[in-house]
Amino acid sequence: MSTLALTGIGELSTHAPELGVLHDAALVVEAGRVAWVGPSRQAPAADTAYDLGGRAVVPGFVDSHSHLMFAGDRAEEFAARMTGTPYSAGGIRTTVAATRAASDEQLAANLARLVDEMRRQGTTTVEVKSGYGLTVADEARALAIARHVTDETTFLGAHVVPPEHADDPAAYVDLVTGPMLEACAPHARWVDVFCERGAFDEDQARTILQAGAAKGLRGRLHANQLGHGPGVRLACELGLVAVDHCTYLSDEDVSALRETGTTATLLPGVEFSTRSPYPDARRLLDAGVHVAIASDCNPGSCYTSSIPLCIALAVREMGMSPAEALAAATTGGARALGRSDIGHLGVGARADLAVLDAPSYLHLAYRPGVPLVAQTWVAGRRA
Ligand SMILES: [Zn+2]
Repeated sequence: MSTLALTGIGELSTHAPELGVLHDAALVVEAGRVAWVGPSRQAPAADTAYDLGGRAVVPGFVDSHSHLMFAGDRAEEFAARMTGTPYSAGGIRTTVAATRAASDEQLAANLARLVDEMRRQGTTTVEVKSGYGLTVADEARALAIARHVTDETTFLGAHVVPPEHADDPAAYVDLVTGPMLEACAPHARWVDVFCERGAFDEDQARTILQAGAAKGLRGRLHANQLGHGPGVRLACELGLVAVDHCTYLSDEDVSALRETGTTATLLPGVEFSTRSPYPDARRLLDAGVHVAIASDCNPGSCYTSSIPLCIALAVREMGMSPAEALAAATTGGARALGRSDIGHLGVGARADLAVLDAPSYLHLAYRPGVPLVAQTWVAGRRA
């Protein structure tokens, strides 16, 4: 097996606890994984070497929450919202209609375009949800297509009740937990529910998550985005690995997150794009809660694919330090997906990294909106 040495790393943020941040570092890759990491002068001989010219290197970003299986765009809705129309969950239905009308090829092409956009901004792992098909066939095909680009696929049939079931939401829950789950489970690793007023309530969410678990799918939850509610406590009660949004939290919610170790995934691009109050990351971190940052990239409430933007927002708007924000977008995202092989650059990790045209990771927050990611490597190869 041949080895590759990445040399000339001006600053290496390993996010491996025993290594921290190294200067004038090198990293050796073998079989797609980190085989050695340390100071350049101690680097072992490798078959080939690649000089990164003094640039900063960070672990590839782990985007643990996105909705990339869709068609169409909602730029007009965004423009309306920016001029005073409040966001409501019903806007999802616009995308459902466009997604149902799209061909498999159109959906796959839009997904590929967005994944490529993410790669160019340093994301090396992305979770992708269904949730804009909302029929058995449309949800299953979304997940089957997504499975070609990521192992982290999530069945979100319980995104919103589709118009044809508006009069009988209970029948829709029966569909989600019955034939739809049956068709989707083979293509998914996760099951998710939008537990929010106007979407699905606590009992419905519990029923759907338990049905998913019976089919081998691990649970995650959209909760406490638009107001206080039962979702975060439900996620903790069920021992879910992550609960996402967490904008409106009671003291009891924060305690439950700390006690269960459920990761709170914050999605600051949503608050930015909906001009809404940001979650209080500082409160969560100070309480000892595990925090992740993800994009929530979707055509309605947040159409950014940029984790660097999310890092900048987390620092500027949510009270996180640049180091905390980078950790939340790497190790935090990995934790939110139950993964220990990604999100850090310790020995044995998958060699996923972002090379920055900057001397330090601090520039991710210090230079918002600047395309600093010069190269993205996935499993030891230029992506
Ligand atoms: Zn979402």
